[in-house]
Order: sequence, then structure tokens, then C-alpha cells
Amino acid sequence: MKTKSYAANSATTPLSPFNLVRRAPDEHDVHLEILFCGVCHSDVHTVRNEWHGTTYPCVPGHEIVGRVIKVGAEVQKFTAGDIVGVGCLVGSCHTCESCEEHLEQFCENGSIFTYNSPDKHSGGVTYGGYSESIVVNEDFVLRVPGNLDLAGTAPLLCAGITTYSPLRHHGVTQGQKVGIVGLGGLGHMGVKLAKAMGAHVVVFTTSQNKVEDALRLGADEVVLSKDESAMNKHLNSFHFILDTVGAKHDINAYLVLLKRDGNLTQVGVAPEPLEVDVSNLIFGRRNFSGSLIGGLKETQEMLDFCGQNNITSDIEIIPIQQINEAYDRLVKGDVKYRFVIDMASLRVNS
Ligand SMILES: [Zn+2]
Ligand SMILES: [Zn+2]
Repeated sequence: MKTKSYAANSATTPLSPFNLVRRAPDEHDVHLEILFCGVCHSDVHTVRNEWHGTTYPCVPGHEIVGRVIKVGAEVQKFTAGDIVGVGCLVGSCHTCESCEEHLEQFCENGSIFTYNSPDKHSGGVTYGGYSESIVVNEDFVLRVPGNLDLAGTAPLLCAGITTYSPLRHHGVTQGQKVGIVGLGGLGHMGVKLAKAMGAHVVVFTTSQNKVEDALRLGADEVVLSKDESAMNKHLNSFHFILDTVGAKHDINAYLVLLKRDGNLTQVGVAPEPLEVDVSNLIFGRRNFSGSLIGGLKETQEMLDFCGQNNITSDIEIIPIQQINEAYDRLVKGDVKYRFVIDMASLRVNS
């Protein structure tokens, strides 16, 4: 099926209209019309080949909310008209140890990501959500709670699960002290989710002009990370710290804020290695770890949790024709806090 989309043809050319071909849905597939797609920093890294290995043309987008048009004969969970989501994953082997534990993001035979992954159906690569429709195996389609704003829900599919999964994995609960480092697309979701889990949330930021916003989003305290005496007041006090910063920064300044056995989890990907002073881990038996999105079961749990707590992302809606300008603004950190493409703009204009 011929499908309108926006693609990059090289690392240095702007995204532009591209007609791709979606497969006809098989008996286990769901065909959905895409309503909204969030713009993740990974989209920019992939389009610009900053992580290497991008195949062009590249159609990014893995924060997808849409309406089911059609389902295959064997599909039980969905029917035409349902509002659904698709995140970063569209396939995995289903049989390895990670898949059996519902951790498809760590599939030992290779997770199939929503874009720029080998596509066994087409023989090419997968094409993501900057398009008018997508065909996805039902196991990788998620139910969207009926009470949530659909545009604000799109970023939950990547930014939401990326922050929810480590908070849950490390047992964040009522009354614990939790730090969120960085207040961008990921950080602002971390604040909302940790707060809804009942934590005392402290935001660390380098910028004075984010203080007010952090408090509005639900933070109990905000610390300017360059203020050494403000940092020192929090020594040895955190159960958990979620670090969302995707640039080189001093991780040791945060490790020393953890309590004994506390955990600092990194979800931002810095382009160069971070230096860890291991004495900060040894004294206090502290842990330094990482986390990658979440499996399908946990992503559904996150969406349901957001439905119960009325949590969506703070967004700026754009037509697809403004995507290149949005990338430039995203790189500068000039967005509160996620761009979401209104895919109706693709159907109307190009
Ligand atoms: Zn993403
Ligand atoms: Zn697997």
C-alpha cells in the first residue's frame, strides 16, 4: 500500500515528502492510521547518522498514536476504530530468555525497532511514524486509555516508558527521595511519573529559568547543579537518581548524593564515555546502571498508570512541514517538552 511519509535521503539533507510501501496486513497484523507522532532525540541522531548505521531513505518516528483501520483475521485484541499506540519496537524473536521475560527490548536474537531496523517483510529497513499509516504485528500494538489527550500521549511511547521502566525496576515508591537530572523530554516525564509513584522528587538542572517549570511539573525541590553548597545539602540522601542528560557531565557529583545501596540509572546517551570515580561506588555500596525503554507488557502497564493518574507529556504540536525547523530547535533544547507532529498535516498538504 502506497503511503505518504517524510524521509531523510542522507545525513545532511532535510526531511522531505517520500512515498513508501506498507505491506498488506497479514492475519496477525494491525493496520493503523497515524494521528500523532512524537519527535524523539533519537530521530535526530538517526536521521543525521550520529550513531552510524543509518540506512537511507530513513523515515523516523517511534512515538505513534493512531486509529485502527483494519485488523488481520486472527487478531483478537483490537478492532477497527480502536485508539492504539506503537512505540520503539515492532518485532522480536518471542523465544529467547529476554522475550520470555517480557523484555523484548533486549531480545537476544535482535529486537526489531520501529525504524531503521532490518524488515523481514520488505527485505529493506523498517519505516517509522512520520507517515500516514503503519502495519504492525498485534503483539507490538498497545491500548491507549480513553481519558488521555492523544497528542500528549504520543511521547509516552518512548519518553514515558524510558523513564517509567527504571523507576519501577528500582522499586521507587511512596516516601522515597528520588532525583531527576535534566529537565527535557525525558526529565519532565520522570518528574511526573516519580511524583505519581509517591516519591519526594528533586530536580537537578543547570538552568535557573527551568526552576519554576520544574516546580509546576510536580518537583518538591529544585537544585542548580552548579551550586556546590546546594548540592552538598543532599549528600548521601537519595534512594534513586534518574540521569537523563545526553551530554558529557560529571556523574560523580550525583553518585555522592546516593544513600547506601542507592542507584543512579543513566538513560541519556552521552557521545563520549563518562568518568566514574569508583570510590564513590565502593563507599556506600552504591550502584551505577543504565536502562533501555521497556518491554511491551511494561509499556502497557505504563500507559494504564498514566491513564489512572492522568499523565501526558507537555507538548508543542507542529505540522510535518515544520519538522526540519523543529529538529534545529530540539538540538538547542528549545521545546517544552516534546514536539508532536499532527499527522493530519501530511494527509492534507503533501
Ligand atoms: Zn525515542
Ligand atoms: Zn527474543
